[in-house]
Amino acid sequence: MAKHFQNFIAGEWVAPAGGDYFENRNPADTDDLIGLFPLSGRADLERAVASAKQGFERWRRTPAPARGDVIRRAGDLLVARKDEIARLMTREMGKPLQETRGDVQEGIDTAYYAASEGRRLFGHTVPSELRDKWAMSYRRPIGIAGIITPFNFPLAIPTWKIFPALLCGNAVIFKPAEDVPHTATVFVEILLEAGLPPDVIQLLHGRGEDIGAAIVEHPEIPLISFTGSTATGSRVGETCGRMHKRLSLEMGGKNAQIVLPDADLDLALDGVLWGAFGTTGQRCTATSRLLLHEDIHDQFLDRLLARTRELRLGNGLDPDTDVGPLINEAALEKVTGYIEVARQEGDEILCGGARATGGALDRGYFFQPTILDGVRPGSRLACEEVFGPVLSVIRFKDLDEAIRINNEVAYGLSSSIYTKDVRAAFRAINELDNGITYVNAPTIGAEAHLPFGGVKQTGNGHREGGWEVYDFYSETKVAYIDYSGKLQRAQIDTYGAAQG
Ligand code: NAD
Repeated sequence: MAKHFQNFIAGEWVAPAGGDYFENRNPADTDDLIGLFPLSGRADLERAVASAKQGFERWRRTPAPARGDVIRRAGDLLVARKDEIARLMTREMGKPLQETRGDVQEGIDTAYYAASEGRRLFGHTVPSELRDKWAMSYRRPIGIAGIITPFNFPLAIPTWKIFPALLCGNAVIFKPAEDVPHTATVFVEILLEAGLPPDVIQLLHGRGEDIGAAIVEHPEIPLISFTGSTATGSRVGETCGRMHKRLSLEMGGKNAQIVLPDADLDLALDGVLWGAFGTTGQRCTATSRLLLHEDIHDQFLDRLLARTRELRLGNGLDPDTDVGPLINEAALEKVTGYIEVARQEGDEILCGGARATGGALDRGYFFQPTILDGVRPGSRLACEEVFGPVLSVIRFKDLDEAIRINNEVAYGLSSSIYTKDVRAAFRAINELDNGITYVNAPTIGAEAHLPFGGVKQTGNGHREGGWEVYDFYSETKVAYIDYSGKLQRAQIDTYGAAQG
């Protein structure tokens, strides 16, 4: 009998008001039922909001360094349970254990960074233009933060949002992706064990179009942080715009690795294999386009093909596995559909191009690592996010052309260039329209203490991670303290008398 997991609302683990649940299955083995998770609705949300309002009143008055102490303890608990969490994450999400260990480590790094921010949260103190007057800015919490997360980083992405939101003094309502509810449940258990007051965190499982949309629409949740597809992000953005909510959007990518002829080709080869097929291509920063200079195009592709054919598909719990499954049946259908589009567009399928089957693979959503050559800039395979193990190869003549091709997509998350020429590297850093550019490293590999995010349709100007995210989760307040004992009028008394 499968276990029924619960929501966490108003300080207790509770069944959904409607009594309905959904199944969470292992994408590498669909016979493996992990558990049943609540399908939440508006009644659950109303209870969560009422409780979070009380939690906020208490938490916002807790000194920021003390809030940081709770987050540091959560980091310690993640360290202690790293391997166990990585295993359960691989079971529900599919990526190999070394990757889920990295996912937990990112949460740990984020915890310790956030904990130390509790002793900073800097404002400014600046001179007033008037005598005997003091002027300063500082940061205040905002209220209840609605946190909506995707499936591909089941722990890291929730921690990127929830630790800074809590550190800044907000209460949190957390809606994880339907495919990874178990990791989210364990994360909330850890927050509670670390000493977070129970009404400061509420966990609501369920479908995005139901409970996710209800969170976005709720008038008493002034702050929404969303990571997911650009299509969903547009809907979230429309509602938040209409309701004047503060919104952080982190969305899709179509990231390119550029290889110049002077590059260390062995290094570039390792980079593209990891960038394109790591996490089965299901990273927002995955290498989805490989831009090859015409001088090295053929030799590089030959070597890439040989290495790609050696990749071992399988259950991520098996230490020999290089590439795990796609997340679910819909993802399998989407990726398969893109192969059909590639055929229609005249791309050459050099390897892969179909579901991977045989033995245990039949029970999961496995897709063969796929390389498409001759992809034309402007075509769908050159522009649209596939979110699977599909690499589009595009040939270019010089760096100017590579930069132009990189920039002519609607997304702008990450890019990478392999070269030994320092001038080419710096030109690329300056000219590539992305939030992140890597030099001699793949398009994936962000570190938790730097701002993370993209330009154009990847984001809406905010960043996760690093020091910038704390601006998003707090409001600037300015205070003027006039101790002159008389009315002093800014602009008028400052300059008015002198100018006559
Ligand atoms: P998704 O958009 O399907 O779902 C993301 C979350 O939104 C889920 O929790 C889902 O339940 C919820 N949701 C769905 N419909 C909703 C609605 N109408 N209102 C409110 N919430 C709703 O995305 P996904 O398939 O889980 O994740 C893959 C996408 O995420 C890719 O496009 C990827 O590039 C992107 N991503 C971006 C970043 C980044 O930082 N830029 C990081 C990871 C993933």
